[in-house]
Amino acid sequence: MHTDARTLDNGTVLEGDLCIVGAGASGITIAREFANTLLKVLLLEGGGFEFEQKLQDLYRGEIVGQPYFPLQAAALHYFGGTTNHWAGFCSTFDPIDFEKRDWVPHSGWPITRNDLDPFYARAHQVLELGPYKYDAADWKQNDPERVPLLGDSRVVSTKMWQFSPPTRFGTKYRDEIVKSPNIHLYTYANVVEVEANEGLSAVQSVRIRTFEGKEYRARAKRFILCCHSIQNARLLLASNRQAKTGLGNSNDLVGRYFMEHFEMPAGELALAKPESTGTKLYAMNGLGGPPRGELALTAAVQKENRILHGTASVEAGNYGDEVKSTFQFIDTVMMNAQRAWLKGGKKGPPPIAKALAATAPRTQGPQRFYHLTTRQEQAPNPDSRVTLSTERDALGVPRARLDWRVTELDKRSIRTFYQLLGREMGRTDTGRVQIRDWLLSDDLTWPSFISGGWHHMGTARMHTDPKQGVVDSDCRVHGLANLYIGGAAVYPTAGAVNPTLTLVALSLRLADHLKG
Ligand SMILES: Cc1cc2nc3c(=O)[nH]c(=O)nc-3n(C[C@H](O)[C@H](O)[C@H](O)COP(=O)(O)OP(=O)(O)OC[C@H]3O[C@@H](n4cnc5c(N)ncnc54)[C@H](O)[C@@H]3O)c2cc1C
Repeated sequence: MHTDARTLDNGTVLEGDLCIVGAGASGITIAREFANTLLKVLLLEGGGFEFEQKLQDLYRGEIVGQPYFPLQAAALHYFGGTTNHWAGFCSTFDPIDFEKRDWVPHSGWPITRNDLDPFYARAHQVLELGPYKYDAADWKQNDPERVPLLGDSRVVSTKMWQFSPPTRFGTKYRDEIVKSPNIHLYTYANVVEVEANEGLSAVQSVRIRTFEGKEYRARAKRFILCCHSIQNARLLLASNRQAKTGLGNSNDLVGRYFMEHFEMPAGELALAKPESTGTKLYAMNGLGGPPRGELALTAAVQKENRILHGTASVEAGNYGDEVKSTFQFIDTVMMNAQRAWLKGGKKGPPPIAKALAATAPRTQGPQRFYHLTTRQEQAPNPDSRVTLSTERDALGVPRARLDWRVTELDKRSIRTFYQLLGREMGRTDTGRVQIRDWLLSDDLTWPSFISGGWHHMGTARMHTDPKQGVVDSDCRVHGLANLYIGGAAVYPTAGAVNPTLTLVALSLRLADHLKG
């Protein structure tokens, strides 16, 4: 069932068993798990079914610290959330990503890769991916030309990726949600406060406000915040009438440990014998294309060198190309073009695919030259954080203030990655790696831009100890009996790969926990 919240009477109180705030990848995944059950699910979405500038402006925020994408361009505020323009790159976190690594402060999840495996397999269906297989050998079987580079190396491995069409949750799952008799979807229902009981031990209601000045409440037995990492933190921090520092924040952890993935051009690869080593395994064939590999360092080598986890995408190119970072490449202009393309009936190739095609090699004969683009986790850092700005949005909620920080370990890890990759390529005479100047500078200074992947993680991290994490291993906020967080905000560390497959898996796990 669907209701436009603007049509409700002022002061209405909605009642349900489960209240999900935010209808993006996480919120829609959890809601679908309860479709056609006896539970009454309230799904509160701040936006409508289409992009609207006025609503999107609620995401505008302040950037201090490292320069970052404008917050109103880095996530989308309408039904379907940021999946309305995600690119669909999916891969799994590796076992090492969940481990406590003594060289990575604050690392270690309270769950393992094995715990997530069954949920990853289910998440594949949600995201319309292929078989749940990530071993390069699995994908080589169909095509002998898809042979991994450095296949038997103990240093370098191939990390496989799969591509969602990409699934746009807002269009793919809209009918299912709206037709489900027990899911009550409210659009234009912006939650502006989470309200607890007197003892601050459980949530009683959430307060909703519209641009028309109406206010409602939603009451339920359990609440799940699925507003994306920055907005989840903002909402908890702004719920500060009863708890001065914000709800769930008695240990000053909400908003801290904000993490991104570094996605930056960092080197070039020239194959020594393109005739024998040319392989299509790493080729990108547009959005939604077949699986492909990226180069990575094995877990053993990460441990020996005490570095973070990263991969390098191998993009066919030409010597002397100007290679752009994601920061420069998918900028606001590109996103506006993408949106116009979606609205205009998808005529011609999508703008992102067009841009990728423009980078395709122009030379004849075996491909010799490749650009290497880093994709690396950043170390969790309590000083990298979301707080509240002094400026308020049109609904009276303080805007988010992002202070993104990077560390020496982050850059040293990228540099070591390329040095080890280069040595291994040279030792085996597979090819030669040229490392970009900015990575080699002695003082470990960064270039003027540091490009992220539009991935927001870690503002409500998971830890069994309330002094070290906002949520427990079930994604329940410590100290609040019935409040849960859905999405990448709960990641204690970011892994090397894009976040959505893992956050959908975690959302399915949370839904199963709540069913229990
Ligand atoms: C350009 C771009 C490309 C990307 N490409 C990839 C990729 O290739 N692979 C990948 O894994 N990830 C990618 N991502 C990231 C991916 O989109 C996110 O990881 C994913 O959408 C996050 O899911 P979520 O449910 O946490 O948040 P969202 O999908 O953003 O959903 C949050 C929902 O909450 C609603 N909401 C927010 N605040 C409130 C409130 N106060 N009250 C009510 N509702 C509220 C929003 O309107 C929204 O619908 C990309 C992101 C961008 C920007």
